[in-house]
Amino acid sequence: MMNKDHKKRRKKRLKRSSHTLIWVIFVEAVIVVLGLMIVLWPKENEELDALLEQDVKIDYIEDDDAKLTLYVPRPDIDEQLLTINDYSRPGTKTDGINYIVVHYLANPKTTAQENHDYFESLKDLQNVSMSANYVIGLEGEIIQCVPDDEIAYASNGENHDSISIENCHMDTTGKFNEATYDSLVKLVAYLTEKYELDRDQIIRHYDVTGKECPKYFVDHEDRWEEFKDEVMAYREQCQEDVKSQETEADVLANYLESELETE
Ligand SMILES: [Zn+2]
Repeated sequence: MMNKDHKKRRKKRLKRSSHTLIWVIFVEAVIVVLGLMIVLWPKENEELDALLEQDVKIDYIEDDDAKLTLYVPRPDIDEQLLTINDYSRPGTKTDGINYIVVHYLANPKTTAQENHDYFESLKDLQNVSMSANYVIGLEGEIIQCVPDDEIAYASNGENHDSISIENCHMDTTGKFNEATYDSLVKLVAYLTEKYELDRDQIIRHYDVTGKECPKYFVDHEDRWEEFKDEVMAYREQCQEDVKSQETEADVLANYLESELETE
């Protein structure tokens, strides 16, 4: 009898303590949930606001000097402006920019840096006037020697209203390798977009003076036309990319706004 009673009491005590335990767990869980809500609630809204601001911003390209909004990205340009001197950088402003003039160096296997350094050395050599606004190297590197709005000595009668681009090449055919060609397409696309030039404002040195420059594009007229097509196609592609980004951003903005409203 005693034993039975004892068991009963023990059972009751156990039951009571398990009830207490459940209560404690419950209350603690409520505290944790409330705590999480307090910590996370405003944060979640902040995150949403940040997301709205961040993702809706269209990825236009801001141009450093012109503060223009451009579709075509600025390629990597290594600015190594020449010292102002009478033989390679007279410091004379152009009369605006009407043409991009493409050249070849006619000196196989030389690098962009070597040609840049040669232009720079002319201030001391003083035996010839020669330069270009840009030189593109065998690895596609682009060195700027003369600012866009200053005259370079490359394109004779068109120096006063053009930007000149010299290109390195491996042999006497004057054919540009893939890296050089690729950078040339991107640089010309960028410059024609920046200065609002059309396809027929991309010209060869040959078109100015009849000089066999750039040789490969004089010998292969079809490749020259193809090159200009590629420049224009790249520009269009860049425009489409930005426009589809706009559409995506609109969709996201609308979605996030409707999410915020329903909260
Ligand atoms: Zn030339």
